[in-house]
Amino acid sequence: MLTIVLFGPPGAGKGTQAVRLAEKYKLMHLSTGDIFRANIKGGTELGKLAKSYMDKGDLVPDEVTIKMLESEVNRSSNAQCFIFDGFPRTTAQAQTLDTFLAGKNISITLTLALEVDEEELTRRIILRGKESGRADDQDENIVRNRVKEYNNKTAPLKDFYSKQGKLKNIPGVGSIDDIFEKLCFEIDKMKE
Ligand code: AMP
Repeated sequence: MLTIVLFGPPGAGKGTQAVRLAEKYKLMHLSTGDIFRANIKGGTELGKLAKSYMDKGDLVPDEVTIKMLESEVNRSSNAQCFIFDGFPRTTAQAQTLDTFLAGKNISITLTLALEVDEEELTRRIILRGKESGRADDQDENIVRNRVKEYNNKTAPLKDFYSKQGKLKNIPGVGSIDDIFEKLCFEIDKMKE
């Protein structure tokens, strides 16, 4: 059974690659950013709360994010294999995820970390903002804050997964196909 965490700073290409990996390996794709955006669109209370953080480029508080993720996993009761995209983003989220999955006899197989330098990230996100209309992609100050949040709160998770022997760093530059191939190579190696 395969469960992947796709890890990396905003703009590293997690969403694009997660969709492709989910299809190839038959994984349930859970993107906390997508779920928050769907809630904002639907005008839910959760959406309103999440928006107040997302609009500033801040992380949504752990209690809110963890509760939402757990209910999404529970809703997909038939799935045993997941790809988490944009979750976990803090040590508290990672610890809770381990415990929560253990309760379901699931463990993370591999954490794939896409690495892209900061200038390239900002450039990509601003470009994406022009195409997607995502508000948090269009303002350079918000983008820089998201990268800062990543460096302060999320990057330390590399250590967390490295200590578990589960971390693989993948250069997130080059074509989408090239990066996809590198990710698949690591997954296939793990499955052997
Ligand atoms: P993303 O689409 O993954 O770039 O996420 C967009 C925004 O949603 C982030 O800037 C955060 O405000 C929020 N968000 C998404 N995932 C998480 C998470 N795991 N923890 C906290 N906030 C999150």
